[in-house]
Amino acid sequence: MAEGVTPRNEDYSRWYTDVIQMAELADYAPVRGCMVIRPYGYALWENIQGALDRRFKDTGHVNAYFPLFIPMSFFEKEAEHVEGFSPELAIVTIGGGEKLEEPLAIRPTSETVIGHMYSQWVKSYRDLPILINQWANVVRWEMRTRLFLRTTEFLWQEGHTAHATSEEAVEETLRMLDVYTDFAENEAAIPVIPGRKSDTERFAGAINSYSIEAMMGDKRALQSGTTHYMGQNFAKAFDIQFLDQNNELQHVWTTSWGVSTRMIGAIIMAHGDDKGLVLPPRLAPIQVIIVPISKTDEERAATMQAADRIFTQLKAAGIRVKLDDRTEVTPGFKFNDWEMRGVPIRMEIGPKDVANQSVVLARRDIPGRDGKTFVGWSDLETRIPELLAEIQQSLFDKALAFRLANTHEVETYEEFKAAVDDGFALAWWCGSGDCDNAIKSETKATNRCIPMDQPGGEGKCIYCGKPAKEKAIFGKAY
Ligand SMILES: [Zn+2]
Repeated sequence: MAEGVTPRNEDYSRWYTDVIQMAELADYAPVRGCMVIRPYGYALWENIQGALDRRFKDTGHVNAYFPLFIPMSFFEKEAEHVEGFSPELAIVTIGGGEKLEEPLAIRPTSETVIGHMYSQWVKSYRDLPILINQWANVVRWEMRTRLFLRTTEFLWQEGHTAHATSEEAVEETLRMLDVYTDFAENEAAIPVIPGRKSDTERFAGAINSYSIEAMMGDKRALQSGTTHYMGQNFAKAFDIQFLDQNNELQHVWTTSWGVSTRMIGAIIMAHGDDKGLVLPPRLAPIQVIIVPISKTDEERAATMQAADRIFTQLKAAGIRVKLDDRTEVTPGFKFNDWEMRGVPIRMEIGPKDVANQSVVLARRDIPGRDGKTFVGWSDLETRIPELLAEIQQSLFDKALAFRLANTHEVETYEEFKAAVDDGFALAWWCGSGDCDNAIKSETKATNRCIPMDQPGGEGKCIYCGKPAKEKAIFGKAY
């Protein structure tokens, strides 16, 4: 790389775009607001998918696929839902050269079409619960877009479940919030605050929405996953009924939950630095990059032979490893290149290392000499997985320390305004949407969530001063 990425403190937004383009994660598509996910970005997404999908299956869910096109009339069946999504709908009116009898929406989310199908599939309590997830693309016509964070078309998973009781549906909603928290913290190394959304931030058609909120490197919030308890709203709109054990007809209780390619934006901004991407080892497409170093042909033969052998050995051990055997660029170029792409461990093998039967391992998260260790060939298979685990933990610890240092418990509105200007504010909140709206218009900060973890007790709302039983997290958000 002749030029590096824009430093974060110079222009954070430029830095973000530079990282994505230079690391070849994504590119702009010919249609405004759309993105092309390039192979390196897609490999990251596949690892995210894998880690989530395992957790969905472990909690009893199965995958299915529903159509991209949804009859327009479906949206009108749930009043809040249609109001919430209408401005973002892309609608097909012509098919095969002819005007369609009924326009078709391109799915912005699939509650409606899945509700329609569930109404046909559910007959008795024996058919419940239905625990289905779908991996798909969705389209929401966005005016202001940003790669991975907000694009007109994006990839995600959407879980849609139907239950016999309200308790079960609430339990499912909270279970998936836990699954998302576990994924974000243990796979993406991003500490998150799980919490309930206030009414102003609720999903259109839900009784309660929940989210995991993360702090990015510029101290802004990113909602990184959401789960929704729909009550019987969609069941009534789509007539999803079942005969209970007493042979009485009842409406089901439903949930939905989703994580999208936005998570890639979260990973970039939670861990990245002025050299570029820093990827958590558990999700990194390449965990170890091997760079052989030689001056003469003889040295090259020896280092390449060792590099090849180590590559094969590590690959067999299940480590995601790549050997950079390019001859047209210098080792220094390769170092910068892989650093910018966020590969957790760089392995250097020079003639001296071959003679000593060792290698140099350099950590991406600790620059310079401090991050380097010599490791003997015979120890690589045990040492590398240990080192990857250490890096994973240290990324999480660093992100958590950063969030804690920039989250302020505030007692006065003056303190609140200062806090949300430079991080998160944790404040007593009365539960009123009016306070949310006033705060938003005065400070640009939004109510991110009411954390599940509450201090207890009572206080005065940070805005109106009325009695408050809960604390909420406020911050400027993506
Ligand atoms: Zn208030």
